[in-house]
Amino acid sequence: MRRNRSQTAKRRSHQALVGIKTVKCECGALRLPHRACAECGKYNGRVVIDVVARAKREARRTKRREKELKESGQISEDTKEKEPVQA
Ligand SMILES: [Zn+2]
Repeated sequence: MRRNRSQTAKRRSHQALVGIKTVKCECGALRLPHRACAECGKYNGRVVIDVVARAKREARRTKRREKELKESGQISEDTKEKEPVQA
């Protein structure tokens, strides 16, 4: 059905984007509220994510993927990109 300008504007008045709300973690990093901190792995004062193990796992996976790509000849040694490894 035909909508007039006023009805269109009223509908669109609820479509504005809002910024991401962040709170400061006890480690000093910004994190999303009600979510564990990605930097230190803490939630509500206790450690819930082993960030060291996660970083090690990610490094291992990156290494393995690069190895597979090299073996299949999709990338060569000199053109490969170094991805920064999280501490
Ligand atoms: Zn933190």
